[in-house]
Amino acid sequence: MKIRIIGSVASGTSVAAKARRNNEEADIRIYDRDYDISYSVCGIPYFVGDEVEDLETLNPRNPAWFKKRYNVSIQTRHEVIDIDHDNKTLTIKNLDTEETVTDTYDVLVFATGASPITPDIEGTELGHVFHVRTIQHAGAIEQFIESRKPKTATIIGAGYIGLEMAEQLTHLGIEVTLLQRSKQVMKHLDKDIADHVADTLEAHGVNLLLGQEAVRITNTDVITSSGDTIASDIVFLAVGVQPNTALAEKIGIKIGETGAIAVNEKMQTNLPDVYAVGDVAESFSVITGKPLYRPLGSTANKMGRIAGDVITGGTSAHRGILGTGIVRVFELAVGQTGMNEQEALAHGYDIETLHNIKPARAAYLGGKEIIIKAIADRATGQLLGVQAVGEEGVDKRIDVFVTAMTFGAKAEDLFHLDLAYAPPFSTTKDPVMYTGMALDNAIKKHNKLLTPKELQHRLEQGENFQIIDTRAKDQYNTSHVPEAVSIPLAELREKAKELDPKKPTLCYCNSGVTGNAAQNILRNMGFEEVYNLSGGNKNYQKYRK
Ligand SMILES: Cc1cc2nc3c(=O)[nH]c(=O)nc-3n(C[C@H](O)[C@H](O)[C@H](O)COP(=O)(O)OP(=O)(O)OC[C@H]3O[C@@H](n4cnc5c(N)ncnc54)[C@H](O)[C@@H]3O)c2cc1C
Repeated sequence: MKIRIIGSVASGTSVAAKARRNNEEADIRIYDRDYDISYSVCGIPYFVGDEVEDLETLNPRNPAWFKKRYNVSIQTRHEVIDIDHDNKTLTIKNLDTEETVTDTYDVLVFATGASPITPDIEGTELGHVFHVRTIQHAGAIEQFIESRKPKTATIIGAGYIGLEMAEQLTHLGIEVTLLQRSKQVMKHLDKDIADHVADTLEAHGVNLLLGQEAVRITNTDVITSSGDTIASDIVFLAVGVQPNTALAEKIGIKIGETGAIAVNEKMQTNLPDVYAVGDVAESFSVITGKPLYRPLGSTANKMGRIAGDVITGGTSAHRGILGTGIVRVFELAVGQTGMNEQEALAHGYDIETLHNIKPARAAYLGGKEIIIKAIADRATGQLLGVQAVGEEGVDKRIDVFVTAMTFGAKAEDLFHLDLAYAPPFSTTKDPVMYTGMALDNAIKKHNKLLTPKELQHRLEQGENFQIIDTRAKDQYNTSHVPEAVSIPLAELREKAKELDPKKPTLCYCNSGVTGNAAQNILRNMGFEEVYNLSGGNKNYQKYRK
């Protein structure tokens, strides 16, 4: 069997390695138009920022290594320029010699990845403007920084790559401006969580310009849509990627609604014996079953392994993705999985939303707060999405949520997880368990939650709440929700008589726990409609800011 693979980074080499593990006889060859193979794209920002000293540690393999280890031929600087699928023939151009050769295949795999988008503005071709995608880019960026010693940098785009670059360039002592077209960083987060990231960037001196586009790049500046001129010795384009589908489209391969190649769970395209994997291929949501495109190395590797197995007779099948991601932004870890609030609403769910603020491990050992925003379906209790930010423990919590959600967990299931606990690692009831408890109570036991956004909306609609601040008086005096009265929890039973049990009532504390206790007292006293403010005053003040 002749297996031919186009693309030799994360997904293409995974196909080859798995196929070889299953089958010693197959003739496996990979073509790549670039210079490098099987490298860690994800490590490039950390090389730029000197956290990774040697570029070779991100790029440890070469075709000779692959040949020896897997008996797979890899031809770099060879671009597949044409395909005759009726005759199963490839036309390949050697980019060094300009020679064109042909090759045949029994099975063809598209692992052609994605290319960074170049915004349609003047100046992107200038020598100090860079994409961050390949080892070649990494080398060129390093050379520029070493030789030209830029003092100012503008990054266009505040997604994962833009944020990682902002952190790393700041570490190098470069003054960074981060430009983002929308009003928030990281489009997969809700704005209230993204604002924590924005605050951290600004606290580290990043000049964050939200709601602004770059309209022109000159040799010295970036001009923005609001007419600002930003001094920029170096510029990075990080506005997203587009899947490399052109060659596939030429031979009639179906493109999915996300713009990537449509594949089934065996990574097969609509053409017989043609597969697609990695950043060029569409995935689907574990929750909705609908197409989802999140071009990530984690998924690329997985898809490659599945295709390699299927091609050689295995039974692997892709089970979809949640769209999980994580990024470090200075001291903050930012993780997310599943749907955000907007996406869940757009899918037609009636959602319950919780902001859970808890120490990541015992507070008496210095445990720092983690903020978890979790969204569940009111009708079934199913968890739909989680976002988390904090200085510690975010990675672990996101992965626990991911695991639970992968198996269809409901909010109530989280409390029953037998999670590891000792004070240096967690709290007796882990923040994940609290999240489940509070969401489940809200859904089933009428411990209703109101997010700051919902509160504001309902107040704007003219609803009249009695709002009770259950914290100590001095905390109330420092900051409180407008219109709130101060009734510390210890006084609530007594003072409840002065309140109207028929009127919608909102309780809150600092972050939610005492607010919930007050809510229970009033509910048990016969108050008809009692809410707890999600994430308490802390979350509210952040939202108002
Ligand atoms: C800076 C950065 C940081 C990242 N960080 C993370 C992270 O932390 N976590 C994470 O999960 N993901 C991360 N990613 C995403 C991850 O790197 C990609 O998902 C992954 O590289 C995709 O692998 P791939 O093999 O599908 O595609 P690619 O890496 O795009 O490789 C495709 C290859 O195909 C070649 N090719 C295309 N067309 C042809 C042709 N016609 N002929 C020959 N060769 C061709 C290309 O030259 C390329 O070498 C990051 C990406 C970047 C850019």
